[in-house]
Amino acid sequence: MKREEVISGLLRLSSESPPPPGWQKPYFYLLGSQNLVLLDAGYREQNTVDKIQRVLEHTSRRLKTLVLTHGHMDHAGPIEELSKNFSPLIMASEAERPVLERRNLARFIDQWFKDDVRIESELGELEIISTPGHSPGHVCAYLPAHEILFTGDLVVGEGTSFVGPPDGDMAAYMQSLERIKKLKTRLMLPGHGPAVNDPAKHLGELIKHRELREYQVLQILSQGPGTPHELAQKIYTGLIHPNLYRVAEITVLGHLSKLEQEAKVRSVLDGDSKKYFLQP
Ligand SMILES: [Zn+2]
Repeated sequence: MKREEVISGLLRLSSESPPPPGWQKPYFYLLGSQNLVLLDAGYREQNTVDKIQRVLEHTSRRLKTLVLTHGHMDHAGPIEELSKNFSPLIMASEAERPVLERRNLARFIDQWFKDDVRIESELGELEIISTPGHSPGHVCAYLPAHEILFTGDLVVGEGTSFVGPPDGDMAAYMQSLERIKKLKTRLMLPGHGPAVNDPAKHLGELIKHRELREYQVLQILSQGPGTPHELAQKIYTGLIHPNLYRVAEITVLGHLSKLEQEAKVRSVLDGDSKKYFLQP
């Protein structure tokens, strides 16, 4: 069984099935020793249910709460099975409802919360912090007693997370990064990739990276109009796994939507795609 104790009473678990090429496997977290809180649940796989079963087997332990950072299938996959087997209180942000509905998972949510909310855990109070951007109702979970931040897909351990339509919003994403920058954090535990031991540096690099991409988009458009596809080709060729070009294109579209909201670019329909121009 793949599991790792981060600090006493905090387990980091991962899904077992291999992710699609170019993607990273999801991690999720189990807090406490009696009344357990689960943050996310990975892919829909029997392994996850079995793992949690093994943790619960020993004593009078129970799975009290499951909080979803967001509703994508690599985080919310097995909630039907977890609900049936362990009956935890399953919580998600109200703003994430459409995402979960599209995946036919909304009916397993017991409690929808708005904005920030606090929940009890044996490691201390857990602050659920609204951090939209990767998806509309994305949240992080902050454990002030240990200065640990569970970042879901807002911050991943390596590389960058995907921010683009239909669920993503780059402007909101950048604001969420600025928001968590203000928290006193010594360790970030992401939904993908390794733990982050130097949160301030990692966050600084991430913000810089996004600003660089935005600058590149503006630079390319200053030489003439382009479609998201053309821009992605210019920016990402040689940088990413070929399977990820479609994702890169959507990420570029995320930047373009932000720039359009800020009236720095404008677009016209060009066949199936949109052509973007720099605003004079
Ligand atoms: Zn994910």
